[in-house]
Amino acid sequence: MRAGVVFVQGAAPEHVQALHGAFDTLGIKGTVAQVRKRKDLDDLDCLIIPGGESTTISKLLLRFDLADEIRRMAADGVPIMGTCAGCVLLSKQGDEQVARTQTELLGLMDMQVDRNAFGRQRESFETSLRVEGLNEPFPAVFIRAPLIKKVWGGCRPLAKHGDDIVMARQENLLALSFHPELSGDTRLHQMLLKMI
Ligand code: GLN
Repeated sequence: MRAGVVFVQGAAPEHVQALHGAFDTLGIKGTVAQVRKRKDLDDLDCLIIPGGESTTISKLLLRFDLADEIRRMAADGVPIMGTCAGCVLLSKQGDEQVARTQTELLGLMDMQVDRNAFGRQRESFETSLRVEGLNEPFPAVFIRAPLIKKVWGGCRPLAKHGDDIVMARQENLLALSFHPELSGDTRLHQMLLKMI
């Protein structure tokens, strides 16, 4: 199995480690590609778009000719997980900050995000989240996190923090407003691998 992590900016190395942990737990022989250019996307079974700075990542996805190929992979059914900034980029609608910074979203999931929604209140926090599909709560790390303001169409919520949606799925696409790679718990990386 060959997983890829978009490696242009942000919290990418931690996802590589988490993927290897998930491979081990599931007893899968797998490799992880560091995606920096168009060719690195070839033959991937799944892809992670990490957290970081969504405006910067979106610009680099365009500059390195990755955005359209990622859209094509999504349409082909390749499982893709976007975390934090990656969650912002997967969505179809942003907020005024996304508009003001002219961030070009990948526009793949039927959801609207509010960028830095939690960041304004508390820069960073960890909480125990109930996630659909997991038996035990997940230790979720939020860092200047977006929230998923609404979902429609084929997108459905998988986790909430209070009333706020913080994880959603649409077919082969998973969006998480938190950082699953930072808590040493690989169950959500396993969830992505099981979607293959
Ligand atoms: N606030 C960042 C953004 O929207 C995301 C933060 C993160 O990925 N940890 O670009």
